[in-house]
This record gives sequence, structure tokens and C-alpha cells, in this order.
Amino acid sequence: GFAAQEAIIDDDGVVRGIVTNDLGVARDGSHKDDYYPGMELRAKYTLFAEGCRGHIGKRLISRYELDKDRDPQHYGIGLKELWEIPADKHEPGLVVHGAGWPLNDDNPGGWFLYHLEDNMVSVGLIVDLSYENPYLSPFDEFQRLKHHPVLAKHLEGGKRVSYGARAITKGGLNALPKMVFPGGMLIGCDAGTLNFAKIKGSHTAMKCGMIAAEVCGDAIMDGAEGGDTLERFTTAFEDSWLFAELKQSRNFGPAIHKMGAFFGGAFNFIEQSIFRGHVPWTLHDRQPDHAALKPASEATRIEYPKPDGKLSFDKLSSVFLSSTNHEEDQPVHLVLSDTRIPIEHNLPTYAEPAQRYCPAGVYEVVDDGSGGQRFQINAQNCVHCKTCDIKDPSQNITWVAPAGGGGPNYGAM
Ligand code: SF4
Repeated sequence: GFAAQEAIIDDDGVVRGIVTNDLGVARDGSHKDDYYPGMELRAKYTLFAEGCRGHIGKRLISRYELDKDRDPQHYGIGLKELWEIPADKHEPGLVVHGAGWPLNDDNPGGWFLYHLEDNMVSVGLIVDLSYENPYLSPFDEFQRLKHHPVLAKHLEGGKRVSYGARAITKGGLNALPKMVFPGGMLIGCDAGTLNFAKIKGSHTAMKCGMIAAEVCGDAIMDGAEGGDTLERFTTAFEDSWLFAELKQSRNFGPAIHKMGAFFGGAFNFIEQSIFRGHVPWTLHDRQPDHAALKPASEATRIEYPKPDGKLSFDKLSSVFLSSTNHEEDQPVHLVLSDTRIPIEHNLPTYAEPAQRYCPAGVYEVVDDGSGGQRFQINAQNCVHCKTCDIKDPSQNITWVAPAGGGGPNYGAM
């Protein structure tokens, strides 16, 4: 029912806990009858495990320069649907992975289709957020992907039951920030422990959390007062299979970024299957994802086919299936540093890509009623994927936690 809004950092620069967000604040910032100020939760050590692009983690990385001397972090946006399919098509345990169409080398990504239990199928597309074309819409790429015969044959005659989207942290070891700072740690996908070569992050995040818990537990059992930097976490992490696994796959993402899906994929196949990642070189990708967009004048406009309502759908009906719910009368939780940038800079330069990269239709450029245009934020639709916080070319959008427990409710997802 409440979210951590920010870290408590004392005058000595030590993290002492978190403060939850204020409840009962109206859209205009005034206090409603049920106003309740945020609470401080203090601890000897505070572990931040917010998932990809945590809103507090982002500030901690900046505050403690945890990413100094590392490659910029890289991200993808994953879009996923759950389908119930006819029993005669169901093959429990079947896994299908693919790359390529409808994406390409300048706008890469890959897809998956898993047959789960009870006639359910999970299908999804991950679009690399280093994509170049500002006209690209990850949501619409996903919708047209499902019309490819390789996927369509699994889904035809079925019913879509759920939809969701979430960014993933995929820069791997080269982009992994320092994970410890005075009074706490940044763990799991908040730091970036996902193994992109396997497209798997649960086992690595869990191991990271286990190491962090053991290190904190040991420190407290040794009588620590808290507030120090648990450097022994770094040693324990580097001695673990988690570090070895991330080291082995460190070139996977940079190879795809630099050589494209085909040649990068071939490079990765040789490196991973023949050398098992034990190679003397390390590839880097030093361009942040938000800097990868080309100006709209240099890009090809993409006309997406209309959804057919059977295999492909529109954004609003998809958001409905994510069970997203936000209290209406609350401050907008997508904060613009400069409200002029979307219309004055992003629109002429990049055709305001927020209208397309957001998988929930939150951002629109609309008529302002006096012959001009206005940037509209439909914050109630937000599925908390964090893509805008990552991909906005001007780095002008900051996602903050909305009031209460608002957001998507993914259930079986
Ligand atoms: S507003 Fe941002 S965080 Fe919310 S769904 Fe759209 S891109 Fe994702």
C-alpha cells in the first residue's frame, strides 16, 4: 500500500533507511482529508532491490558515483502476453526463441514463446533500447511479430488473457556499477545482474540477494553498528558463481550492438559454445541508449498495420489486461525536468518518440486548442516499465513512485 520514495542520507553521506511517499496528496499538491505523511524506516543496512532502473537506485548511483569507470548501463523493453490456446496445439515445455524480423541490426531485439501449463502460452518481444529509429514503437513491433507464421500457428484460435511490459537491465558485467555504499547496497536488477546471454535474471538476482543477506548477517553478528560500506560484499560477489557467469557472458550485448544480430550472434555462438566465454578480450559499448536515436529527418517513418483484434491489439485494450490501477487525484508520477522540452525540442528533432516507446499510451502530443500543440501525460495508464526514464533523448523524464499501491497487477504474468 505504500512505496519507498527516497533514501534517508545523513549529513555524513550515510544511507540510514528510506522514507515512504506521502499519501492523500491531490493532483495539485494540496493535502486531502486522508493526507498521511511518509514514514521513515531506518536500518543498519538498507538493501535496494527495486528491479530495473529503480527510482532510488538511479539517484544512489549518481550520488555515490557507483558507475564511475563502467560502461553505460544498457536496457531493453520487454513486452509480454499470456495466451490461452486450444488444447490440441499445446505442447507443455516447448520453448521457441528468435531474433530478426520485424526488428533489424539498427533496431535489434529478440522474442520468446513458451508453452506453460494448463494450455497457457507466454509470448514476448524484447526490444533493445539502443534502437535508432525514433519512429519505432516496441508495442507495435510486438503486435506485428505475432502475425509471423512461426508464432501465429501457436496463437491462432487462442485468447489473450494478460499483457505487461517492463524494462530489463542488460549491460552485464561491463556496466555493473559498484554495488556497495555507506549504509547499504544495490542488488539484483537494480544494479544489473541479469545474464543477457541467457535472457535470464531471476537466478542471478536471487544469488545476489543471498550474498548480500549473508554479508549483512555476518556484519551484524560481528557487532557492526551499521552505516559502513560493506566492502566484503564485493569480495564475496567476485568469489561467487554469479560473477563467473556474468564474466563469461560479458561480450554478448556489446557484440550484438557493434556487429548486429547476425554477425554478433555468430560471434557470440563461437565465443560461448567453443570458448565458453573464456576469451582474452572484452568488448565495450560506450553509447548510452538514450543517445542512440537518430533525428527523425534521417529516419524512415514506420507505418504499422492496424491490429486485427485476433492476434494483434491496440494499446488501450492491452493496458486494460494489465489490470493497471492508479488513484486519479494524485500528482503525476512522471516528472518533467523541463516542461518545454517535449514540444520545443523532442518534437521537431525526434518526432517526440515518447508517443511510441511508451507501451501504455501514456504520452500524447495533442492540439492545445489555440493552434499549437501540447504534451499530454495520461499517468493513470502507466504500467511502470521505466522506458521513458531510460529512453527519453533529453533525459527529461523521471519516474517517481505513485501514491499508494497503484500500478499494474500482473497476477499470473
Ligand atoms: S509512462 Fe514510462 S514507465 Fe509508464 S508505461 Fe510509459 S514508458 Fe513505461
